[in-house]
Amino acid sequence: MSKRQLAMVMDLNKCIGCQTCTVACKTQWTNRNGREYMYWNNVETYPGTGYPKNWMELGGGFDAAGDLQDGIIPNIEADYGVPWDYNFDALADGKQLTPNVEPTWGPNWDEDEGAGNFPNDNYFFYIPRICNHCTNPGCLSSCPRDAIFKRDIDGVVLVDLDRCQGYRYCIAGCPYKKVYFNPKLSKTEKCIFCFPRIEQGLPPACAQQCVGRIRFVGFLDDVNSQVHQLVHKYKVALPLRADRGTSPNVYYIPPTEAPPKFDAEGNVIEGSNRIPVEELEKLFGTEVNGAIKTLKAEMAKRKETGKSELLDLLIAYSHSDMFRLDNNYYKKEGSNKLAPVDNRYLSGKHTQKITRFLRSK
Ligand code: SF4
Ligand code: SF4
Repeated sequence: MSKRQLAMVMDLNKCIGCQTCTVACKTQWTNRNGREYMYWNNVETYPGTGYPKNWMELGGGFDAAGDLQDGIIPNIEADYGVPWDYNFDALADGKQLTPNVEPTWGPNWDEDEGAGNFPNDNYFFYIPRICNHCTNPGCLSSCPRDAIFKRDIDGVVLVDLDRCQGYRYCIAGCPYKKVYFNPKLSKTEKCIFCFPRIEQGLPPACAQQCVGRIRFVGFLDDVNSQVHQLVHKYKVALPLRADRGTSPNVYYIPPTEAPPKFDAEGNVIEGSNRIPVEELEKLFGTEVNGAIKTLKAEMAKRKETGKSELLDLLIAYSHSDMFRLDNNYYKKEGSNKLAPVDNRYLSGKHTQKITRFLRSK
C-alpha cells in the first residue's frame, strides 16, 4: 500500500468516443521507437472485442483466495494489429491514398458496432481505458525480475526499464492487458499516469485534453477531491472488473439513462432501458445498481428543486472543477527533487544521469 493514491474517475455518460484522449497520449508517449502499436489510453465500444482483442478473456489477476491467475500474452499481429500509415504526400499528385500494410486489425476496429437489433433495442457505449495503477497490481506480482514497482509517494505503477528483461509475465498477469511489449527495446512499457505532469500539478494529458470533460483526477485520501467524493462519499464511481482482484484505482460512473426500447410496432416500451443490467454488473459488479439508483435520485432531485451537489460535481463547469492535484506536495516531499521513487532507479545504467531524483548519500 502506498502512502497516497492517485485516482481517476471517468463519467461514461459524457464520453463521446472522439479519441482525443487517445491521440493526446499517443502523440505524447507512444508514436515511435517500437511503441507504434501501443495505446496506453484507448477508447473501446462496449459490447465489443476491445483492445487487445477480447482482453477480458485473456486471464491474469487474482482469484478469491488471492492466487495469481494464469494469463495469455496477446499476439501483436492478430490481437493488437500491425499499425499502418497512408501515403499522404500522394494526395498532392492527385493519387489515391493507400495504406502501407494491409490492415487486418487495430484499436477501435469495431467502433460503434454494439449489440441488439436496430431500431428496437440496439445499444453501445464507450469505455476509455488506461492502466488502473492498481493497489494490488497483477503485473507487479507476476514479474520474476522485480522490475515493476509502485511509487510510495502516489501509487503510480511503473516499469524499471533497467531491470526489465522483456519476459512478458506482467502482460499475462495484468487482467486489463495494459502492459505492452516493445519489440525494439525488448522491454515492456505502460501508462505512467503522466507522472512528470502530475508532479507539476497538471493532470495527465488524456484528462487535460478530454473533450467530453469526463475525467476527474486527484488523490483518493483528499476528502475535498472530486475523486474522493465520487468514489467514497456518493459511491457512484466504480472500478472496472473489480472481480479480477487487483483493486484498480481508475473508476467509472456507469451509463445511467439509455433510451427506451421500441416494441415490434415501433412504440416506446415505457420504463425499459436498452443497456442490459447484467452487462453493467459484469463490468462493475452488483454495486452498479446502487450507483445508478443514487444518480437517478439526484437527477430527479435536480429536476424538482434545481439543486444537486452531485450533479454539479459531474457537470464540471470549468476545467479546474475536474482536477485537484498538488505540486506542492511533491515539492515538499522531495525538496524540489523527488525522493528516490525506488532505489533501483538510481543504480541502473540508463538512469544514473537522471538528476531529478534525490540520490542517497
Ligand atoms: S492495470 Fe494492469 S498494468 Fe496497470 S497496475 Fe493494474 S495490473 Fe498493472
Ligand atoms: S477525449 Fe474524453 S470524450 Fe473523447 S473519447 Fe476520450 S474520454 Fe471520451
